[in-house]
Amino acid sequence: MSIQFQDDFNRKFYYLRLSITDVCNFRCTYCLPDGYKAKQNKTPFLSIDELKRVVCAFAHCGTSKIRITGGEPSLRRDFTEIIAMIAEQKGIEKIAMTTNGYRLTKEVKKWRDAGLTHLNVSVDSLDSRMFHQITGENKFHQVMKGIDAALDAGFKTVKINAVLLKNMNDVEIPAFLNWIKDKPIQLRLIELMKTGEMTELFDKHHKSGLPVRDYLMRNNWEMKIPEKNDGPAEVYCHPDYQGEMGLIMPYKKDFCASCNRLRISALGKLHLCLFGDQGVELRDLLQTDDQNEALILRIQKELMNKKQTHFLNQGYSGSTPNLASIGG
Ligand code: SAM
Ligand code: SF4
Repeated sequence: MSIQFQDDFNRKFYYLRLSITDVCNFRCTYCLPDGYKAKQNKTPFLSIDELKRVVCAFAHCGTSKIRITGGEPSLRRDFTEIIAMIAEQKGIEKIAMTTNGYRLTKEVKKWRDAGLTHLNVSVDSLDSRMFHQITGENKFHQVMKGIDAALDAGFKTVKINAVLLKNMNDVEIPAFLNWIKDKPIQLRLIELMKTGEMTELFDKHHKSGLPVRDYLMRNNWEMKIPEKNDGPAEVYCHPDYQGEMGLIMPYKKDFCASCNRLRISALGKLHLCLFGDQGVELRDLLQTDDQNEALILRIQKELMNKKQTHFLNQGYSGSTPNLASIGG
């Protein structure tokens, strides 16, 4: 490792979220309620060679964890090859993906064999009708089978992402807790985040995770100490539960103080924050291997512009229209 990517506030970036496509086959109410709309004159997403140059630069500068995301990353035909390519890069210890889970049953073993080490599956409800209502797809049972397939394939644990939605799935906390009692699952409740395209939904359905945290504390759940390349969740464990609970609360004070991650969009832009502005073009420096040094210098220079915090609490959620377009 030559340099460590870090910003002006001494935050070090060990974790990269790499979006490989904007396309998705689900229509989650909070993300792509009308489904993915292909653009005319569409610029192609980063090729495997371009992705390799991104990963190589980050690995060279201290990044040890890559999360592959999207859109729905498993929709890319070369998805297994992308995992294998990342697994070959020196310094990368963890390769994670976030998926809506619809392809797990068929493919998860292959992905694990290619080098995938960590898996997040989005499951917003344990009630199949509510799942359908939130995601726009009647695929609850298929996704649940996929989670079992992942555990059978050898993943020691699976992380589940559930966006907490007032008057929709917020009555399901007891059901979620019951589900993880005897299963090696870390269930992470994510507070709904306001994005550019979302107006009414946020006001209607946003709910703070703090009451859930208070409930956990009152019931003897203990907070775990995070590792350096862990994500933003506060994780809680309990001696009577095999599973764990995680809370992601971006509106909480000091959420940004422990930021250790950066994002690359599927079109090759560097995003310093999920709630920042347009992103910085990197694609012109992803064309040949000998551009590596220039690529690292541009990223390092841009990191000096990373703001200390987002401005969500001031009502500014940046220019991201939805999380599928930047890689959630
Ligand atoms: N399609 C994959 C999936 O859904 O798992 C990966 C991409 S998705 C953008 C990544 C995560 O972001 C999912 O867990 C999703 O629930 C979450 N997400 C999307 N929009 C969100 C929002 N507005 N607020 C909070 N979480 C959101
Ligand atoms: Fe697709 Fe994931 Fe967005 Fe749902 S959250 S629409 S599955 S990208």
